[in-house]
Amino acid sequence: MTMNSTGRPTSFSSSDSSAATTTVSGSKGLLQAEGLIFEIGSTGKTGVDLAKPKGTKNRLGGVTRGKPTGLPGLTEPEAVRHYVRLSQKNYAIDLGLFPLGSCTMKHNPRLNEKVARLPGFADVHPMQPQSTVQGALELINELADWLMKLTNMPAVAMTPKAGAHGELAGMLAIRAALIARGEGEKRKRVLVPISAHGTNPATAAQCGFIIDEINAAADGRVDLEDLKAKLVESSDIAGIMLTNPNTCGLFERDIKEIADLIHKAGGYFYCDGANFNAIVGRVRPGDLGIDAMHINLHKTFSTPHGGGGPGSGPTVLSEALAPFTPVPFILRTSEGLRLVEHHSEAPDSFGRMCAFHGQMGMFTRALAYILSHGADGLRQVAEDAVLNANYVLARLKPVMSPAFEGYCMHEALFSDGFLKDTGIETIDIAKGLIDEGYHPMTMYFPLVVHGAMLIEPTETESKAELDRFCDALASIARRAVQKDPSLKTAPHLAPARRLDETRAARSPRLRWTPEPPTLKAAE
Ligand SMILES: *Cc1c(COP(=O)(O)O)cnc(C)c1O
Repeated sequence: MTMNSTGRPTSFSSSDSSAATTTVSGSKGLLQAEGLIFEIGSTGKTGVDLAKPKGTKNRLGGVTRGKPTGLPGLTEPEAVRHYVRLSQKNYAIDLGLFPLGSCTMKHNPRLNEKVARLPGFADVHPMQPQSTVQGALELINELADWLMKLTNMPAVAMTPKAGAHGELAGMLAIRAALIARGEGEKRKRVLVPISAHGTNPATAAQCGFIIDEINAAADGRVDLEDLKAKLVESSDIAGIMLTNPNTCGLFERDIKEIADLIHKAGGYFYCDGANFNAIVGRVRPGDLGIDAMHINLHKTFSTPHGGGGPGSGPTVLSEALAPFTPVPFILRTSEGLRLVEHHSEAPDSFGRMCAFHGQMGMFTRALAYILSHGADGLRQVAEDAVLNANYVLARLKPVMSPAFEGYCMHEALFSDGFLKDTGIETIDIAKGLIDEGYHPMTMYFPLVVHGAMLIEPTETESKAELDRFCDALASIARRAVQKDPSLKTAPHLAPARRLDETRAARSPRLRWTPEPPTLKAAE
């Protein structure tokens, strides 16, 4: 077995791969095997040692539990080890470069965490009287102000709790605007490029719109001719949902013309702003004719994500859509800041996105990030993110197949062209990366590129780390071209090999059922 400079095994012959992957304990090196908590626990154990209460009377009446709850009992060290072992099976941005394209997995500065934990921000309750949370309202308002300035948009809905939720807010605002114009029933068609993130058509459909796909041109951008053809009959156009920079990692050069065409057709322009990291401080979406755009605070503004959240997806709105902003929003009055919470005060508002005021912890982290970078720092974020992606593109170009000619924005996109006739596929490359200690890049997305591999390094990786990653990926690409069969069965060093992810997603087993006692006895 060959080792790299950090002592990680890097290649396997078919004979040593089996020796390296089979152990009596099931553990792999220092990565411990771990069963389900139900399998290791037993009802006879507990992590606490409470004295039997003396001199108290049972006041439960007839409802004392008669049978055990069936929950596993663990000692404290068993409980601690169980969760630490599980946590070590997770890949995390704190462990290494996380190249998932479109996800902007960047470092979460610890300063933000420190600020978010200040009691004045962390310990407020959403139902406290507003006079006692003026600082928290000030923070939300200041973040809102930055987001409007950075995008040159006059309004922002702060409450959406993720990117997709922000899309929903934007599309509901568009629907409300169409209804207010008396065209709610007539204008039902939303144009969505075929390269769009899946949440775009899903959101439009959820709002009752009909999706009409626009083709991609050979250069990976929107096919302007196809768009124009879709607008010849335009009386039913509600709008367009477009990502910029798009999911091919390219800037939509014709974006102003697209905005004009959509507006002329009587529709609104929703921009998916998930890729704002590539242009923050350089381009203001409001200058491009955009009517609504969500911003993923958990991407561009470095608040943590992964593992299901919490995210935060404030949505900026144009003047045309501003009246329909969801409640609550903040007003500055002579007595301080005040939340507008009810329809009576905001009659055109389309309603409410969530119970309270949005993700306070994420707002705090995002504002800390913005203030610690300043305007010049934010601009450099975008510049370095684009530089890093182009470095990856340039380093891997000789051994992989760039999907498009020329420079990219914040992510480098490859097709599986270099794998032709090797029998090796995109998924094998991704699994090979796991053995090298990296989370795979985004695979098979966007759909417009065959066997796509989308890599977004972000600005927070050093050149040394980018080189280490590119060395690893380039070596896998070379092994693939040489038809190395061990790639077909990678990963060899992970706790689990190839899982049936589709079945896990479609029919998840969420309930543990004890082995039937008869079966156990028979063994
Ligand atoms: C991440 C992302 C979304 C969805 O954001 P969530 O916060 O995951 O809901 C939408 N569009 C694009 C292009 C994205 O990258």
